[in-house]
Parts: sequence; C-alpha cells; structure tokens
Amino acid sequence: MNAAEFRKRGKEMVDYVADYLEHIERRQVFPDIEPGYLRPLIPDSAPEEGEKYEEIIKDVERVIMPGVTHWHSPYFFAYFPTGSSYPAMLADMLCGAIGCIGFSWASSPACTELETVMLDWLGKMVGLPEQFLAGTKGEGGGVIQGTASEATLMALLAARTKVIRRLQAENGKLTESEIISRMVAYTSDQAHSSVERASLISGVRMKKIPSDEKFAARGHALKKALEEDKAEGLIPVFFCATLGTTNSCSFDNLMELGPICNAEKLWMHIDAAYAGSAFICPEFRYLMKGVEFADSFNFNPHKWLLVNFDCSAFWVKKRSDLIGAFKMDPVYLQYDQQESGLVTDYRHWQIPLGRRFRSLKLWFVFRIYGIKGLQTHIRKHVDLAREFLNHLSLDERFEVCAPVILGLVCFRLKGSNELNKILLQKINNAKKIHIVPCCLGSTFVLRFAVCASSVESSHIQFAWKHIEELASELLKTKSQYSDLLTGEEGCL
Ligand SMILES: *Cc1c(COP(=O)(O)O)cnc(C)c1O
Repeated sequence: MNAAEFRKRGKEMVDYVADYLEHIERRQVFPDIEPGYLRPLIPDSAPEEGEKYEEIIKDVERVIMPGVTHWHSPYFFAYFPTGSSYPAMLADMLCGAIGCIGFSWASSPACTELETVMLDWLGKMVGLPEQFLAGTKGEGGGVIQGTASEATLMALLAARTKVIRRLQAENGKLTESEIISRMVAYTSDQAHSSVERASLISGVRMKKIPSDEKFAARGHALKKALEEDKAEGLIPVFFCATLGTTNSCSFDNLMELGPICNAEKLWMHIDAAYAGSAFICPEFRYLMKGVEFADSFNFNPHKWLLVNFDCSAFWVKKRSDLIGAFKMDPVYLQYDQQESGLVTDYRHWQIPLGRRFRSLKLWFVFRIYGIKGLQTHIRKHVDLAREFLNHLSLDERFEVCAPVILGLVCFRLKGSNELNKILLQKINNAKKIHIVPCCLGSTFVLRFAVCASSVESSHIQFAWKHIEELASELLKTKSQYSDLLTGEEGCL
C-alpha cells in the first residue's frame, strides 16, 4: 500500500469507525456464535499473493463483527468500562505512525518526556500527593504500564528486591532464596485475581486478609496476620490495598492500613484500577484518604477516563526503588546523555524492553475534554448508576448487595443463589443487555456496571425494565425450575 492509497483507505476507515460507533446501538451487544466459529470462515493459511484491500474490508463484516462483543454498546453493563474516544483513537493512529520503541530517553526523547509530564498532569488531576510526581526535582514519578496487573507485579518485585538488599546489608550470609522463602505479602479477600497472580509469578507467598461487612480490608485484620506470621519467622514485605474492588467497588481503609504498613516497613501498593478515574472529581477524593501512606499507586485511564486500552498509570514515591531493582545496561542501549541525571529510561520501570508512545492518547484526551469534560463523564456515570439503584430500591423482590458509591450496582433477587443464576442466564441469553456476576462471600450477585460513554438514561430504563420483566417471568414459572431450587449452595 502506498501513501496515495493510504490516504484514500484511511478516510474510508475513519468513516467506517464513525458509522460503527454512531450506530452501535443497532448491533446485538453479545454475539450469536459458538466457539470455533471463525476458523471455517477464512482460509487455512496466509495467501501466497497479496490481496486487494476491498477483499479484506468486506471480510470485517463477514468474519469479525459477528464475533464481537460490543463493549461500547450502551447495552453493555458487564465487568467495568473500558475507555474509548475519538481523540484517543486519533492519537493512537499517530503513535502507530511514529512507531518508535521508547525504551530509553535517546530511543525517542519525545516519547519519554511527554509521558513523564502527562503522568504529572494526571497525578495532579486526581489529587495525588506531591511526592508521587516527578516535576523537575522530585524523587517520584509516573509511568504508563500496559495493565494494572503489570503495575501490581512491578510493585511486588520492587518490594521484594528492596527487602533482599536491606536484609543482606544487615547479614551478608543470607542468600536471596532463603529470604524469599520466608517472605509474605498481603491483600484482602476482595482483591483482583491479578494480585494473587503477582504472588505466583514472583514466588512471594501471599495471604488474604478477611474483609469486613462492607467488603473493606481493615487495620486490625492486617495486624493480626502480621503478628501471627512474624511469630512464625516470616518476613512481611508488601500489602496491596484496593480502592474500588472488582466485585463490589468497595474501598479498603487506608487510614488504618497505611500507618501499619509504614511502621512495619511493608511496601503499600494501591490498586485503584477502576475507581482511580473518579478522583478527578473532588467530591470523590474522600475515598482515597490515606493515599499519602502508599509507596505506589495505580489506576487505569483505559477503564474510565476515555482513553483506549492500553494505558495503566503507575506512580511511585521513590523511582530509585524501581530503577535500582531492575537495572540492566548493555552497550547497545547506552548513549551520551545517559549520565546527565536529567533523563529517564523507562525500560527500568517495566518488564518488557519495548514500549509504545501511549502518552499521546493522554495528551489528546486531556486537551480535548479538559478536566471539566472528564469530570462530567464520571459524574454522568455515577448518576446513571444511582438511577438504576432507584428503580431497584422500589421493587421489593430485589435487594442491593453492597453500597453504591460510583458506577457499579450489585444486586440480586431475594432468594437462593440458584434463582439468581437462572435470572442471569435469562438476561444473558436474551442478549439485549450484557452483565456478569460476582460472589460476595457465599452469595451469588449480579453486577450492573455503567460502561459505555454513549449510555443515557433511556438505556438504563430499558435495562431495568428488561431485567424486571425477566424476573417476573422467572418467578411465575419458578416451579419449572424446582429441581434447581433445592437448598442453598455455595456461590459457584
Ligand atoms: C480491572 C481491574 C484489574 C485488572 O486490570 P488490568 O489492567 O486488565 O490488569 C485489577 N484490579 C482491579 C481492582 C480491577 O478492577
């Protein structure tokens, strides 16, 4: 494809994308296909000779769209939102065009420098304490990771290295593997599965602190675990707190947990993957009270801040903790300005070497919407969740299962887990809306998350009416399911 054809096809693609998103409501939110649907639709091997562009674009509707779950449909209420906006897509296009691999300052200075400044902008926008910002003299700073999972893993690995170095400085005979085998990290029983996965990958055992009746981790529970483990000779190194859990959007109590972590020299990482975006609104910042105790903080602008995947913002108070932990300097990556003290080499802050120019997405989105535009987006979603909650509260067949603070409503029919599993099945089989469940303790719960940026009050009303009608139908024909409704069982 040459530049002339790219101009033509590029304009066509922009039209296709705009049409897709403008009319996404007409598409069924969840596809009607079975596993393995795609293989028979395309050849077994790549073509020997190049094909015409027309042939490829025709296949988008034939092969791809029938198998797409439309995350940006206003009838999508599953998981958590994933951000999308036209300025972010345009910036991603430019990122593709520049196509640099920004592992060091010299590998593309703009890629590094814009990222540092954008993470400072974003840190200020969400009210992070000054120590997390790089500025021109700070010891902290931010970096864009691909996902919250990688941010948690980086934090845990940095904490691990820090403790190994500290203990080896005190006692030169201790080996790394001896120390790691005695390490222990903590998180709450409501933490995202990626936190436990970071423990599996790092080889640092992890214990789950039981959460309270509002699904928050509390100080006394952490303290109890710490005392037991220290008595057994274990070395506590890390605590991952969650602001906005995936199950129910609950918030760990940082004011209790933070001082304990600091006193016990535990690295405190905060996973605010979803809820972090809400802190752009001052009225939600009470939820991050105690963030000043943390060593690292992370949230996903690609969830709720109109930035397309992938863009996970990760800040540390001491960037030397990251750089010191993973530094490698082969000759082919060295350059003249390296020792100036003024450059950042982001390869030391992450697991891969290569990295894309993702800060362009932030820059475009922040400038097009402004802080006010982004606040409007968050507030609209929170209001729509409350609207759904209002419908729900007026229907006494249903119950609300967790406090509704941001854009997520956890609810269920009063009755057994089995009854609610059938309701979920009916909802998702009808494919008019899409939602996913969760377990709160041993209770099976339906999650209604306000997701698409195009969602309006009319879609919330539609979703509620649809759920309510399916529930009526289910309750009327309940006897049909009597074999499924015997006795209370666990959540899964
Ligand atoms: C979504 C979510 C994650 C995982 O996010 P990735 O960026 O996909 O790794 C982690 N923690 C919480 C609380 C989440 O809601």
